[in-house]
Amino acid sequence: MSNATALPISALRVRVEAILRNAGLNAIQAGAVARVIAAGERDACKSHGIYRIEGVLRTIKAGKVKPDAVPELVPQEGSAIVRVNANGGFANPAFELGLPALAERARSRGLAALVINDCAHISALWSEAEALTEQGLAGLVMCPSYSTVAPTGGNKPLLGTNPIAFGWPRAGKLPYVFDFATSVAARGEIELHRRAGKPLPEGWAIDAQGNPTTDPEAALTGAMLPFGGHKGSAIGTMIELLAGIMIGDLTSPEVLDYLGTTTLAPLHGELVIAFSPEAFTAGRAGDPFARAEVLFEAIAGQGARLPSQRRYAARAKSDAEGVALTATEMEQLDRLLTLGLDAVS
Ligand code: NDP
Repeated sequence: MSNATALPISALRVRVEAILRNAGLNAIQAGAVARVIAAGERDACKSHGIYRIEGVLRTIKAGKVKPDAVPELVPQEGSAIVRVNANGGFANPAFELGLPALAERARSRGLAALVINDCAHISALWSEAEALTEQGLAGLVMCPSYSTVAPTGGNKPLLGTNPIAFGWPRAGKLPYVFDFATSVAARGEIELHRRAGKPLPEGWAIDAQGNPTTDPEAALTGAMLPFGGHKGSAIGTMIELLAGIMIGDLTSPEVLDYLGTTTLAPLHGELVIAFSPEAFTAGRAGDPFARAEVLFEAIAGQGARLPSQRRYAARAKSDAEGVALTATEMEQLDRLLTLGLDAVS
């Protein structure tokens, strides 16, 4: 496939936003969702770039997201918890709404949490971890998904792919950020292998009978496996507890019951925890940011790369040359704009 064009990130964002507006999303949701989709494409995170648009459109068409929803801050005076009700809309504008209050409370108290309830979710979590670091905060972001992962030792989908991201701010440098699914791979990766007709690496999935498989079709009807065996299984379970049950929102099995399919964006909650490194180190020797740099240098000094380094390199290239899209991808964007919800079944 040839590269048809290289679009400036702003032009890609405008295009994605126009598609989403044309499909019925209100301005606040279309703007926030377009920002994360364009950022995903810019950072060469193909499973969370323009590939996500069709899923957004399918979810609108199925009536499983409220296209006119406006997120609301739920008053919780005196609490370290900032709660935003997405009111059935996408999570992204809810995060943008809650971030200033979260950052203010984390700075003044040392620790604060943002709870987002009743949100449709399509995003990678790194953009939110990065947003915390831009406020000088460290943070954790997590959410459930829908049942597609068998617990270690089990044989049926139960847990979600349950992503978790962490960010640490670095003065004058891009932050330390990692972000991964607690399954061996994100479900979008399985779908991308299926579309490309490529077998999955060993150890990613089991089929409907519980046998190991490298066939993406069989994996999609069977179950994915947690990363790191029992360790990923336990972390995935923790995310169901903290970012599902504890915040009064749906767990991955409940999301699947509600949706009845894994082809639409899941509706659940999200938990963001922000830490002020200065507040935690108060009274102790050493600047936490300077000490973190010593650690990062030691990691790099062994020839290991830091997480997000690949993404930041892709971002630098996209910023300099534009976001490279193939002719097929450009045609797809045109098609989605022209056909709107008729483009998806
Ligand atoms: P990857 O395995 O692709 O990457 C995981 C993280 O590890 C990234 O931060 C990556 O940085 C880093 N990394 C990868 N290789 C190395 C290495 N050799 N050395 C150091 N760091 C490395 O992630 P997944 O496939 O598990 O997840 C992809 C995305 O899917 C995530 O963004 C996640 O949020 C999202 N997701 C969203 C869900 C949802 O419901 N909203 C559900 C599940 C996943 P780099 O990017 O620079 O390579």
